[in-house]
Amino acid sequence: MEDACTLCYNLVLQDQPHPALKKISQLNDSTLYKCCCCYAYLHHYGNQWEIMSAGNYRGSGTDSSSILKTG
Ligand SMILES: [Zn+2]
Repeated sequence: MEDACTLCYNLVLQDQPHPALKKISQLNDSTLYKCCCCYAYLHHYGNQWEIMSAGNYRGSGTDSSSILKTG
C-alpha cells in the first residue's frame, strides 16, 4: 500500500472525507483530491476512494529505496 496519513486511510477504508482534502479537478462522477497533510492524490469515483499516489508523508522517509539498499 502507498504511504498516506491516517486521515487518508480512514477516507479510503471508511469513506470518511477529512478537512485536509483539497479538490483539484472534477469531471462527471470522478473527482480528484489532494491531501494537504500527506500530499497524496486521491481519486473519488462512484462511492469509492483510491489513493493514486502518495507524496511525502513524514515518518516513512522520502526515499524508501535507500533503506532497501542499506547493508
Ligand atoms: Zn493524507
